[in-house]
Amino acid sequence: MSDSTPGFNTLAIHAGAKPDPTTGARATPIYQTTSFVFEDVDHAASLFGLQAFGNIYTRITNPTTAVLEERVAALEGGTAALAVASGHSAQLIALHTLMAPGCNVVACKRMYGGTINQLSHSFKNFGWDVKWAEGLDAKSFADQIDENTRAVFIESLANPGGVVMDIEGISAVAKEAGIPLIVDNTMATPYLCQPIKHGADIVLHSLTKFMGGHGNSMGGAIVDAGTFDWAASDKYPMLTEPRPEYNDMRLFETFGNIAFAICCRVLGLRDLGPAISPQNAFMLITGIETLALRMQKHSDNALQVAEFLQCHPAVSWVSYAGLPNDPFYQAHKKYCPKGAGAVFTFGLKGGYDAGIELVKGLTLFSHLANIGDTRSLIIHPASTTHRQLSDEQKKAAGAGPGVVRLSIGIEDAADIIADLKQALEKV
Ligand SMILES: *Cc1c(COP(=O)(O)O)cnc(C)c1O
Repeated sequence: MSDSTPGFNTLAIHAGAKPDPTTGARATPIYQTTSFVFEDVDHAASLFGLQAFGNIYTRITNPTTAVLEERVAALEGGTAALAVASGHSAQLIALHTLMAPGCNVVACKRMYGGTINQLSHSFKNFGWDVKWAEGLDAKSFADQIDENTRAVFIESLANPGGVVMDIEGISAVAKEAGIPLIVDNTMATPYLCQPIKHGADIVLHSLTKFMGGHGNSMGGAIVDAGTFDWAASDKYPMLTEPRPEYNDMRLFETFGNIAFAICCRVLGLRDLGPAISPQNAFMLITGIETLALRMQKHSDNALQVAEFLQCHPAVSWVSYAGLPNDPFYQAHKKYCPKGAGAVFTFGLKGGYDAGIELVKGLTLFSHLANIGDTRSLIIHPASTTHRQLSDEQKKAAGAGPGVVRLSIGIEDAADIIADLKQALEKV
């Protein structure tokens, strides 16, 4: 590679990887091993003391996973990344580093249904509270922040689709309060949106979705932007206080702009344990190589499908930021100008029953609880992913009775539209 900064496609293929030094293997090998031999006793001691970087045990680091981490960090423009077993475990570990009993996170109501559950119920067991911003604008977030708030948490393109968040405005609010902004960039991927450029301090991913892209492997990532001054307050003791297990090392003092990623690894992942398997890391690395090609095709197809649905008599509304009459069209031009992504919702005039009928009538679409596959996917959130939420929460999350969510694949747009057309005739 030349001296100039490589472009997105080049990074997606090369970042973090080089031919295997011992075998010459060009693709990244799958280092399917739990543990690694120490050179000698001193080497072992320096690894355990964090005085040297190296592999000890695959729960903490693995060479295949390291390629994935470096690649995701490069694509997001972060200083370092940590890969974990799933998107949900990325959220757990990121918040574990920031929170303590009695602390809260200020979050957006428009989020992945599983995230709403995680924050509303399971995390309460740790004594972590959630305060929901009433609206999507920056002021709604500012209104919820108090002295116990340790992070603001949003999605860039928000579930179940159609919303583009004001990352810059919300980042300014978080900065003013001296707390980091966490952006879940799963639905946009760094091809469509790079939240760090707009002020995010931490970027999270479910790599399970578009990053891997083929619906075959679970994974998650935490990306450290390297921008946040953890020592500006006493709110983040895991980063700033001496760690007894590492010879009283202060992680922020020692690791600077990669301290958050390191802390998530050597405290969070080490002790909570959701490590990604090297096999899955390999599948995700392979998927990421074609990220730009896939995301462009996903977005182009989605726009065509949204245009088709908008004119269909059985459809009452379409919420896709790529449509010029959409309220989020301007935000999409600013934050994800190459396309508005593959996932969006629309409303059926026939309500709940029409949603069920549509799902039954489709043949190309798969009915399942995922997004970001090469294949076109459909779900009726009210009867599935958002079923466990109250009616009010469903509405606030954009998952009312006649709402249908699509994740448009990379098949031929004409075939996707033909399938929707024949199924809509029956509802
Ligand atoms: C799927 C998803 C998650 C959870 O990720 P898993 O890999 O399923 O654990 C989190 N956030 C968003 C936006 C998602 O789509």
